[in-house]
Amino acid sequence: MIEEASKLLARSRFAIAFTGAGISAESGVPTFRGFNGLWKKHRPEELATPEAFRKDPHLVWSFYKWRMGLIMKARPNRAHYALAELEEMGILKAVITQNVDDLHREAGTKNLIELHGNIFRVRCTSCGYEENLKENGRLEEFLVQKDLPKCPNCDSLLRPDVVWFGEPLPRKALDEAFKLAEKADLVLVIGTSGVVYPAAYIPQIVRETGGKVIEVNPEESGITPIADVFLRCPAGEAMEKLMKRIKGLI
Ligand code: NAD
Ligand code: ZN
Repeated sequence: MIEEASKLLARSRFAIAFTGAGISAESGVPTFRGFNGLWKKHRPEELATPEAFRKDPHLVWSFYKWRMGLIMKARPNRAHYALAELEEMGILKAVITQNVDDLHREAGTKNLIELHGNIFRVRCTSCGYEENLKENGRLEEFLVQKDLPKCPNCDSLLRPDVVWFGEPLPRKALDEAFKLAEKADLVLVIGTSGVVYPAAYIPQIVRETGGKVIEVNPEESGITPIADVFLRCPAGEAMEKLMKRIKGLI
């Protein structure tokens, strides 16, 4: 299986990666399904919604601040670094991620498309104000503030710049991702349940336009039925093995 996957990757002309929460699990960032009881007994699916934010912004902000603190301490793992190295080698042309954790960027991936936003960015619920707290060095100060965060321009409530369940994806990122999927002759799908649409269309588009699908996941997912090669394995281990083989092939 690894043999077959490494051959396909080494021979590909335009390979892309499509990643989900599972690629960051080994960095200590829980997937939504792996969340059970991690945070005050609330299900993330009930907190990551516009309705929850309208009803109880304090609750939703305390969930996000908790996640920001957790993700702030996380470091990229072998799988994130492998993708950055594949890009450096000229094999991988882009990483399309559903993650909001910034770990691909930290690992050195340059052509990164974030479909669901970034947890370190905040934006105003009324005007166009937005800020990257990590880049501005304001994250720690932000996390200890007790009051709800307000916009410095118009004093409205700030919200995390992430896509919540039921919200549309950022147009530009989605268009770019679909274009890449049409062009790709291979997609490496890592750690996604493949049930959150429209993101889950990406591997389907690659497949429908004649490309190959390689999947890495310790469990079967919504993508498994269309995978040409399914590596049933945690992301770090699979990517380390794959990199060793690829280096022997090129
Ligand atoms: P998901 O939680 O629905 O599914 C995670 C998938 O990862 C599962 O299929 C699981 O089998 C697999 N997995 C678990 N451990 C793995 C490992 N070590 N290696 C490889 N795969 C592993 O996540 P999703 O499909 O990405 O979708 C849920 C949404 O939640 C996303 O839209 C995303 O925005 C958000 N989310 C993001 C983060 C993050 O940024 N790290 C974390 C949790 C949720
Ligand atoms: Zn504002």
